[in-house]
Amino acid sequence: MSTPHPLSVWARNVSPSPTLAIDAKAKAMLAAGEDVCSFAAGEPDFDTPDFIKDAAIAALKAGKTKYAPTPGIEPLRQAVADRYATEYGYKVASSQVVVSPGGKYSCYLAILSTCNPGDEVIIPAPYWVSYPEMVKLAGATPVFVLCDDRAGFKLTPALLAAAITPKTKMLVLNSPSNPTGAIYTRAELAAIADICVQHNLYVLADEMYEHLIYDGHEPVNFAMLGAEVEKRTITVAGFSKTYSMTGWRLGTLVAPAPIAKACAELQSQMSSNATTFAQYGALAALKEKDKAVAALAAMKTAFARRRQYLHTELNRIPGITCLLSGGAFYLFPNISSFGLKDTDFCARLLEQEKVAAVPGSAFGAEGYLRLSYATSDEILRKGVERLTRFCAALKK
Ligand SMILES: *Cc1c(COP(=O)(O)O)cnc(C)c1O
Repeated sequence: MSTPHPLSVWARNVSPSPTLAIDAKAKAMLAAGEDVCSFAAGEPDFDTPDFIKDAAIAALKAGKTKYAPTPGIEPLRQAVADRYATEYGYKVASSQVVVSPGGKYSCYLAILSTCNPGDEVIIPAPYWVSYPEMVKLAGATPVFVLCDDRAGFKLTPALLAAAITPKTKMLVLNSPSNPTGAIYTRAELAAIADICVQHNLYVLADEMYEHLIYDGHEPVNFAMLGAEVEKRTITVAGFSKTYSMTGWRLGTLVAPAPIAKACAELQSQMSSNATTFAQYGALAALKEKDKAVAALAAMKTAFARRRQYLHTELNRIPGITCLLSGGAFYLFPNISSFGLKDTDFCARLLEQEKVAAVPGSAFGAEGYLRLSYATSDEILRKGVERLTRFCAALKK
């Protein structure tokens, strides 16, 4: 008898999501009755607003329980197209919109529909953990460009230009950023867009956190930076972060017609449509604007307050420096002065003080922590106290 074959290269080469793993560990410790303060969450701590739930429940009761068109129910695709026109003046046909089972999947479709084996995809680091794995699953090669806190965690035109080779096919740009919260200004994006057009690069513009921005920063839609830019941009967004709908698994992608069509065709073989009745909940989120605005405003007020608190407290801790980033719900403090690897720092912090944080190296940037402030004021306060004690002990 021969032994069964080993797993595929796809299965063996994929790194499972470290953020989901740490979050799962923290949740398991909590479930076991341990007093854990978790800064590891990658999702809002609020529940989905009731009016959205009610719309999905009504859809379920009305029998919206069958397959739907692969790229999404038409009213939702149209509502997504309408909101881009209203919010950014980005006029697209509903046929350019693809609704997918999660924004994560939308990103994968964007890469899979444009990148060939051998192509290079530029990913500024710190990056969202899934981009490199998705690029590899498409047979392409991720090329990392480190943009540390001295650069405000942002890619510059010079860094981008230096990373481009004849094989470069795509740039992945995520603003506001997970894990740093950094937001690019319109001028910064325009300078990057110029280079992308000049070198004929596709841009995966991950705008998942477009509605979670503070201090009056301007939301910018990358595709709207010019006609040549629009032809090369695939915009990914969704409902998970804006409406606290992470478990619903709904994401959106907007692209030039041939790309949108290709994404829909890929999706037709890989997953089919996103959950049918869930799409009716998302439709309510876009249609019932007053309720949506009120729900978002309440969430943003809480995030803004926690962001200020956490930023102030972190910078009070000897050895930690932290930029005040303008978006999402993360801060990304620098802990390199402690002379510990960030993975060791996080492992010891969890063990000794029961504080969960994700090491920067998970995002391609050693020497940092990703702290999510999508958690209660109480946990934040307790967590900061413990982190302060932990750092003081390290400095002894
Ligand atoms: C959360 C997130 C997504 C996708 O989220 P879904 O839950 O799959 O909709 C995409 N990009 C970034 C940067 C994110 O943080």
